[in-house]
Amino acid sequence: MHTPSLIERKRDGHAHSADELRALVLGFTRGEVPDYQMAAWLMAVYLRGMTREETALLTGIMAESGDTLDLSGLPRTVDKHSTGGVGDKTSLVLAPMMAACGLTVAKMSGRGLAHTGGTIDKLESIPGWQDQLSTERFVEQARRIGLALVGQSKNLAPADGLLYALRDVTATVPSVPLIASSIMSKKLAAGAHSIILDVKVGAGAFMETLERATELAEAMIDIGHRNGRIVRAILTNMDAPLGRAAGNSLEVREAIETLNGGGPDDLRELCLTLCRQALLANGFSGAEADSLPPRVLGDGSALAKLRAFVVAQGGDGAYIDQPERLDVAPIEAPVNAPQSGFLSGLDALAVGRAVLAVGGGREVKGAPIDHGVGVTLLAKPGDAVTAGKPVAVLHVRSANAVTEQAARLIRAGLKVSLNPQPRSPLVLKVID
Ligand code: URA
Repeated sequence: MHTPSLIERKRDGHAHSADELRALVLGFTRGEVPDYQMAAWLMAVYLRGMTREETALLTGIMAESGDTLDLSGLPRTVDKHSTGGVGDKTSLVLAPMMAACGLTVAKMSGRGLAHTGGTIDKLESIPGWQDQLSTERFVEQARRIGLALVGQSKNLAPADGLLYALRDVTATVPSVPLIASSIMSKKLAAGAHSIILDVKVGAGAFMETLERATELAEAMIDIGHRNGRIVRAILTNMDAPLGRAAGNSLEVREAIETLNGGGPDDLRELCLTLCRQALLANGFSGAEADSLPPRVLGDGSALAKLRAFVVAQGGDGAYIDQPERLDVAPIEAPVNAPQSGFLSGLDALAVGRAVLAVGGGREVKGAPIDHGVGVTLLAKPGDAVTAGKPVAVLHVRSANAVTEQAARLIRAGLKVSLNPQPRSPLVLKVID
């Protein structure tokens, strides 16, 4: 096909056919359509948008541009995606909960880029755990334990990787059809029949307003449905970090605490809500979806799933029994409240940047990460704080100028008011 004519069609606001999209996207993936033409087309999409049908077609083509997993032989498969947030260790809790409820979690996860580690980085703070399994072992483990989680295959939706790299340098990332197709292409290729989305809203999130987040969630649900999957989404607040821990080992400890029936209220609430949606998506009744998730947190069965999964992938199960043995950096540097009152703001992005500054995240792909550093939040929005007393603690290898810079970042993100402030709700909306 004549690429300039395709760019022209999108520039003038027309919808593409499946054949046109295939020619563009697969041609680009093969290196036949050059970057400058694809960049012009991406900008046309950014300005003109795409119909729901076009978006679903584009996603399917991207999903099929590389390896696809066939999980159709496994019962009740479920995947979960979060649009990303600070302190978001939800998958570490939710995946074993869903497995303990009888769902099959066969999932690929990414490493983190920017603020904190991704799920794979967090799991790698457990000595011995490894993220690579052959497809046969992955499927066998998912069948036997109900839970297998591996690093994303390099050939998963390669069209998305190439398009994302181009979007990143051509100011075309924040387009709903492009974000939705990018996320969902990887989910479709990964093969699960049901997909639960946690779309974050707020200062620490990709989508800053409820309206934009709703638009994105609805676009992703529509893509899923048109490609034969069941998709549900919840929209959750990400103004402040989730839970009290940010940093890899610290987050694994907090996840285990939550699987032991404790843990921070917001993390527990989020996992219960997501698990409920996963059960509803898989045909469980409302009564079962209400009762099963708290039960598997209370009776140790979700924790037992995490242990079995960690051991199956080479990890030392003793760290699940005694999470205090996980390596956490030994020096604790306090971040004090600037005045007495009530914490009304705790900027998630600032906490994420502080974790990155002390070595808990990576700025470039493949950079090493220190699993033991991070931040523990001693107060969350709504809590009373006292001038000069710690609101947060940085866990670092040595107290130096970088630690001071990280502390300054967190301090700049604190808001203290004289009067008690209402706590903002965590779950803002459920879309099914
Ligand atoms: N995450 C993705 O995978 N793709 C986007 O476009 C944005 C966030």
